[in-house]
Amino acid sequence: NKQILLDNRPTGEAQASNFKLASGTTPPLKDGEVLVKHHFLSLDPYMRGRMNDAKSYTAPQPVGQVMQGGTVGEVVESRSPKFQPGDKVVGMGGWQEYSVVSADQPGSIRKVDTTHVPLSHYLGAVGMPGVTAWYGLVKIIEPQAGQTVVVSAASGAVGSALGALAKARGCRAVGIAGGPDKCRYVTEELGFDACVDYKQHKDAGSLSKALKEACPDGIDGYFENVGGMVMDAVMLRMNAHGRIALCGMIAGYDGQPIPMAYPQLLLTNRIKLQGFIVSEHMEVWPQALQELGQLVGSGKLRPRESVAQGLESAPEAFLGMLKGKNFGKQVVKVA
Ligand code: NDP
Repeated sequence: NKQILLDNRPTGEAQASNFKLASGTTPPLKDGEVLVKHHFLSLDPYMRGRMNDAKSYTAPQPVGQVMQGGTVGEVVESRSPKFQPGDKVVGMGGWQEYSVVSADQPGSIRKVDTTHVPLSHYLGAVGMPGVTAWYGLVKIIEPQAGQTVVVSAASGAVGSALGALAKARGCRAVGIAGGPDKCRYVTEELGFDACVDYKQHKDAGSLSKALKEACPDGIDGYFENVGGMVMDAVMLRMNAHGRIALCGMIAGYDGQPIPMAYPQLLLTNRIKLQGFIVSEHMEVWPQALQELGQLVGSGKLRPRESVAQGLESAPEAFLGMLKGKNFGKQVVKVA
């Protein structure tokens, strides 16, 4: 069982040398356990935060242990009546080829239906990232028809789901993404009304001018994935009583300072800003996954993936994703 461990914690920017390839064995199954062969690993920005030994909403990733993370795969052996060999499952198997899971532990693994939706999408649009988009939009932004909703990192795993969700609620959906290819995908394939390439702008003032064109009626809801200059530019265009769902601030994940340039606008525009962690809202997952599944099944949401080949490629693919080298949901196909 090939595995990738966290070998040491990063100081500043994360490096490939923070990880180590190892090989372990899977223990024989006890009653109630299943053996899962992983087909895909999920690489997610939150993993960067967990590499630090810092106070956060979950415990840090332990050094010397298998990198934790979402996986989809297939049951190959079962000592539980709930699962049969061949069942496709999603779980938290970590960066390794196989995992042994207690089928009775709530939330450990769940069966997924791959008739209409490819297995890997359960790590993206119809998985945790999709539900994240749904929660921030529906529960925090609470958009009304005719309003304008903006999302940063719009071509990514979370951001890409916002367009179809916002359009379904009668909103104008505007993305912000890095580069012409990502922006083209956001408008042409994801159904956003407009997309602004933040890499064309050196400062928040210039980016906010481009946002004014894309959002002629101002911005009512903002789904924030990035922080820094991008957030400042959006703040300059927010309407009174706007709502900001603070989902992530990837611009600061390697420890860069991300000051907010215009906090006074929160006051003068009476803006609601709320952070959230999707795993604390398990009650919405069934409803969110149902809507996301329908959007993907009907072709209204067309998720894109960056697929790295082989377990060994996980560290480089992860570091690349933090810098925007991914295009859509970053996964690893385990050989
Ligand atoms: P993505 O697939 O969006 O990949 C990350 C993207 O971030 C990159 O592709 C890049 O896109 C963009 N990016 C990276 N650095 C910068 C930067 N300095 N400035 C602007 N953009 C940058 O990742 P996810 O969809 O998985 O995650 C998106 C966000 O959602 C993250 O902040 C993550 O932490 C957060 N999140 C929060 C959850 C919660 O419960 N609160 C749950 C899941 C995710 P580009 O090329 O366009 O710059």
